[in-house]
Amino acid sequence: MKKIGVLTSGGDAPGMNAAIRSVVRKAIYHGLEVYGIKYGYQGLIDGDIEKMELGSVGDIIQRGGTKLYSARCEEFKTEEGQLKGIEQMKKHGIEGLIAIGGDGTFMGAKKITEKGYPCIGVPGTIDNDIPGTDFTIGFDTALNTIIDAIDKIRDTATSHERTFIIEVMGRDAGDLALWAGLADGAESIIIPEADDDFEDIIDRLKRGHDRGKKHSIIIVAEGVGSAVDLGNKIDEAAGLESRVTVLGHTQRGGSPSAADRVLASRLGAYAVDLLLNGHAGRMVGIQQNKLVDHDIVEILNTKHKIDFDMYRLSKELSI
Ligand code: ATP
Repeated sequence: MKKIGVLTSGGDAPGMNAAIRSVVRKAIYHGLEVYGIKYGYQGLIDGDIEKMELGSVGDIIQRGGTKLYSARCEEFKTEEGQLKGIEQMKKHGIEGLIAIGGDGTFMGAKKITEKGYPCIGVPGTIDNDIPGTDFTIGFDTALNTIIDAIDKIRDTATSHERTFIIEVMGRDAGDLALWAGLADGAESIIIPEADDDFEDIIDRLKRGHDRGKKHSIIIVAEGVGSAVDLGNKIDEAAGLESRVTVLGHTQRGGSPSAADRVLASRLGAYAVDLLLNGHAGRMVGIQQNKLVDHDIVEILNTKHKIDFDMYRLSKELSI
């Protein structure tokens, strides 16, 4: 293999730039040519492709977002779109591809691999919703952004003796909500993976209130539904006047944490190693601090799970 491509696709995540940098530098270190494909699979179809040099990835390790831009591309879900992408790979002499993104991105990588062009998936999403890795690139940064925001909200919650309901991202996964709730001592954490026991939420609020506690933080994962609706329900049941904050896209941006930069550097380089060693259709990950790789099809057929021990602990600590 002499020439490889790299792209970022799906939602951007802090640390994607560090992963791109790692892929480019590691590949050049091993004598490969690297091509950056802009706007994910859309750029692959359009031929928005340029050669990357060592300097192309200078000064980006600390930046959020993605230097290669990202896009959602419906056309790539079709056979015709995929063949157009393959044509561009042929035209540029690209023999293998590293795709950084979430499970949708991995679907695209699987399709290209099936058409004879080896692909490796690198998990880049703040949601932490990819099986086969303990952490995805961007999760740690997003978590710290959430914690920072909740700490600020807590000042107001305390000063005004209010209950705050905070909606965090995560798509269908509750990881961000669970970790943020545990890290911030939330009274209740509501996630899609666990049945939300409404009575329990109200009981906790009332118990806290009876103990003299006048402010509370409740974290809701976006996958559960609207925090505003939940807030109305809670107000009615507990006789409160709560406030709802939807953190939104602030959670996706910002300079990546040290943990994300290191993770991205390790996973990007490992993806290059796999291509060089003749592997195809794999996704890279980290489990118990060891680099691992899995069959991408197997991963796409596996459901992501949250850590229920952590969920139970969060309940025990917020009695
Ligand atoms: P995030 O979790 O941050 O949303 P993602 O990678 O899951 O990231 P998606 O929008 O689901 O984001 O997918 C990214 C892109 O991958 C899509 O826009 C599309 O181009 C490609 N893709 C998704 N599903 C398929 C599929 N079934 N076949 C081919 N390509 C696909």
